[in-house]
Amino acid sequence: VLLEAGTGTGYTVEELELDPPREGEVLVRLAAAGLCHTDELLDTGEIPAPVPRMVAGHEGAGVVEAVGAGVQGLRLGDHVVVMPPACGRCPDCASGHSHMCALGAGAMLTGASAADGSLRRRTHNGDPVGAFIGLGTFAERCVVSDASVVRIPEHVPLRRAALVACGVATGWGAAVRTGETGPGDAVVVVGVGGVGINAVQGARMAGARLILAVDPSAWKRSRAPEFGATHTAATVEQAATLLRDLTGGRMADRAIIAAGSTSGALLARTVALTGRRGITVLTSGGDGPTNVPLMLTELIVDSKQIRGCTLGGINTRVDVPTLLDLCERGDLLLDELITKTYALEEINDGYRDIRDGEILRAQIAF
Ligand SMILES: [Zn+2]
Ligand SMILES: [Zn+2]
Repeated sequence: VLLEAGTGTGYTVEELELDPPREGEVLVRLAAAGLCHTDELLDTGEIPAPVPRMVAGHEGAGVVEAVGAGVQGLRLGDHVVVMPPACGRCPDCASGHSHMCALGAGAMLTGASAADGSLRRRTHNGDPVGAFIGLGTFAERCVVSDASVVRIPEHVPLRRAALVACGVATGWGAAVRTGETGPGDAVVVVGVGGVGINAVQGARMAGARLILAVDPSAWKRSRAPEFGATHTAATVEQAATLLRDLTGGRMADRAIIAAGSTSGALLARTVALTGRRGITVLTSGGDGPTNVPLMLTELIVDSKQIRGCTLGGINTRVDVPTLLDLCERGDLLLDELITKTYALEEINDGYRDIRDGEILRAQIAF
């Protein structure tokens, strides 16, 4: 629990009261939960908390233990991925863009799992506790909207399944769905942690001929070839020189930014890594309004684009099972992403290790 979300004081492990699922909700016993950088933004205050006390965590997998009234297609014992909601009915879901589901935006503002906006968790003293994006996967159990679970085959390991809820979806989707990387493209990925390394995998699967992984961490650079990187660079400046040589000056067709936080300067320098008709995909933002020192005529003359996306722009109920299937076929590496697992009590150690940089994905194993 973040007892004072937004103050940067980290987590304490507390016992909380959790209501049974109401209409349209399920109770999930979690097996694994990924430590995502976005949860850290709730701790630091870069993402405002709707309630002072919050259970964070928005990437998980587990087993359905109770089903509320009116829930269709889910039964006791089902294995599920727990992730930001995709209701299937709002205009964004209905048009195939369920990564933007209206329920997700609502849950972000209320910390509640269901459309009624009320909370399901409280302290023993009766103080209300919110759940990040209505999920709260940093807990042994969560009550969530049925829109926030995707049923998966029982033979899929739950720790592997948890990975696709956010980090894999975001990186792979940024390259494949939002970036629309194509066969023969030259792709540069800026930041190859838990998100960017999956943009590398997505670019490889889309048929990119050249994949340049850029990261200041030597350890992350050393891991990148395993996932499909053909070249690495420590800085964007080094990447620019390398790309110029490798492409005969044409530069990258796609650039994916998956840095911990993105400054306007980094965005501008990354756009400069792309060539004519280049597309830059942004997966991480910064704090507050940002000045981006761009050459606007260059954007026009070279027909360049900058695209933002949440969850990589995936269509949740199509892409989540697809990603797990791709892993079974050996096309997508998932288990290899889990660098370290932690007990719930060690969650602050996990975030410290992530900051130290030698982690692709850290998970809490319950
Ligand atoms: Zn929706
Ligand atoms: Zn995330």
